[in-house]
Amino acid sequence: FCVALILDRAIPQADMGLLGLLAGAMVALAVSSGLIGVLQQSLTAKAGQNIIFDLRNELYRHLQRMSLHFYTATRSGEIVSRINNDVNAVQGVATGTIVAIAGNVAGLVATSIALFSMNWKLSLVAVMVVPAFYLPSKIVGGIRRRLATETQESQASLLAFLNERLHVGGAILTKIFGQGQADARSFSSTSARVRDLNVKQAVVGRWLFMILSVFSAMGPALIYWYGGYQVIRDELTPGLLVAFAALLTLLYRPLMQLASVYVDIQACVAVFERIFEYLDLEPDVRDKPEAARLERTTGHIVFEGVGFSYPAPSRIFVPEDDALTPAERTDQFALRDVSFEIAPGQRVALVGPSGGGKTTVTYLVPRFYDPDAGRITLDGRDLRDLDQEKLRRHIGMVTQETFLFHASIRENLLYARPDASESQMVDACRAANIHDFIASLPDGYDTVVGERGFRLSGGEKQRVSIARALLKDPSILILDEATSNLDATSEYLIQLALEQLLRGRTSLIIAHRLSTILNSDKIVVMADGRVVDQGRHEQLLARRGLYAELFEQQFAKVLELNGAQRPQNA
Ligand code: ADP
Repeated sequence: FCVALILDRAIPQADMGLLGLLAGAMVALAVSSGLIGVLQQSLTAKAGQNIIFDLRNELYRHLQRMSLHFYTATRSGEIVSRINNDVNAVQGVATGTIVAIAGNVAGLVATSIALFSMNWKLSLVAVMVVPAFYLPSKIVGGIRRRLATETQESQASLLAFLNERLHVGGAILTKIFGQGQADARSFSSTSARVRDLNVKQAVVGRWLFMILSVFSAMGPALIYWYGGYQVIRDELTPGLLVAFAALLTLLYRPLMQLASVYVDIQACVAVFERIFEYLDLEPDVRDKPEAARLERTTGHIVFEGVGFSYPAPSRIFVPEDDALTPAERTDQFALRDVSFEIAPGQRVALVGPSGGGKTTVTYLVPRFYDPDAGRITLDGRDLRDLDQEKLRRHIGMVTQETFLFHASIRENLLYARPDASESQMVDACRAANIHDFIASLPDGYDTVVGERGFRLSGGEKQRVSIARALLKDPSILILDEATSNLDATSEYLIQLALEQLLRGRTSLIIAHRLSTILNSDKIVVMADGRVVDQGRHEQLLARRGLYAELFEQQFAKVLELNGAQRPQNA
């Protein structure tokens, strides 16, 4: 338009002012259309990224609410892959699709109107080809969907594999068993699968394009055949026929583009399904709407006929099968009819053979799982009526395996209580006998403990975890005593630290040490998921049951060595 004005007006009239104005307008036009492009891109990118952002946050929050069942049954790499790869895969389609659909539909409508107003008979012929676009798109869409699912699955297993093998524990296993070569081959084959699937996904789209190109070539052929007939009968001029055929490409191009968007969407649906599979999982430990938020507790815990079984891992991912029938559970129960009481401030030791259900009992107290039968009460209230988060504020846990984040010692400690002051933190570490050690490190409390705390020795890690629990200052303490034998000094330091931690708290201890057992107010003997006996050391010993047997096996020798009296008649 500007060019026309320059040639027809400005030059003939020798109007320099108009010439400059029009030249300027040409530049301004280019700038503004460029800016509109940037604006459009920025809006679509923002919209797409916001969808991803919301989806990812929602997924993370949802997974946080899942009970331990989910985490024990799922490879962590698989979880990471869904939050990362799958959500990313949605992004491409989320950003481009809306604009593509809107633009192409508008083009389609405009061209159709133009065509029908030119010649409705010819238009009907042209439109006859359109349904032919549908079937190939549907078939290719289905293939693409299947490929997308497979691609995401192999990507997830690739990540899960990496996550296990390239972690300290896994790396040690690989090295010691010399499986490096085999692992590399295994990695390479999964990796090759990901490669091949991605190639297939890319090529399948091109096949669709090819098929559709053939169909769109058939359109003009039909038009020239039928239009030629109309020209012969003088119903149409040759010029109009050519113009019509040219317009036809404007009809088919958006159609082809819509078909390819449809195929992309199918791939996206496959990925969405994977994401929603997680979002649809119902957390099996839930808060009731009217859940009580316990502000204070005396620590009075009662197990009343508690039964519990771990569901088979495959069951965990079937949300609608939430309620397993009793028959499906009873053959693999972990706890059956467990009853015992922990009075406020009492120290209760759990003892018994491995696999007896001790750990399971300790997991039920902070509601990592809810029991299937019976109930557990805290200060007379069923745990299922309490708000999980508030309940857990009152509970400290020191496990055998100390987990530390790859962060500084300070950050690991403050995770228990972010608002603790420096002196509170140091006091906790002093009480846990770990302050002097931390202070002797070059970076002190800012020393990074390394992946899962691997830079610290077993005894040091345990004392850090005791300090962490001290900092939290809970009224109820759950302790899984380490079975591994540390050297005498470490053992002594830990023992002193634990005494600090246990003082004045209600505690439930999976006990392995004689001193812990003897110092308990009550011993609960567990075997095969049942409480076999309970009472004080002397009472249990006198009954000459399982406890006496276990005691004989484990500790009689120690007592003998120490010159202590062997229990009578044992
Ligand atoms: P203990 O602590 O006394 O050694 P546990 O409480 O760890 O015993 O285990 C009790 C039973 O529950 C065992 O038979 C064990 O195999 C089973 N078990 C423990 N954890 C799981 C789990 N996550 N899924 C399925 N079964 C489990």
